Amino acid sequence: MSETPTVAETAARKDCAEARAALEEYLHNELCAEDAADVRAHLDECEECSAEHHVGEMLTAALQGACKDRAPEELRAKLLASLRAAQAQHG
Ligand SMILES: [Zn+2]
Repeated sequence: MSETPTVAETAARKDCAEARAALEEYLHNELCAEDAADVRAHLDECEECSAEHHVGEMLTAALQGACKDRAPEELRAKLLASLRAAQAQHG
């Protein structure tokens, strides 16, 4: 009757939300080993979060030595767009 998501789908979505919420701390090595392992395991399985992580890594590298904590949304969007374009070519 109703389109109830399966447990697995719900879990996957929750993982994505949690992984992305933790991604910034993960990138900055601010997570405890257990949480970091969870994020890493999710990144291995999830292409979208893995791409998000890749962008985060680039941003972190780009901002190293800069006085800002967060990348401007514009830069983030630009990196994401170029990443997705690259993935589309491989896809
Ligand atoms: Zn995910």
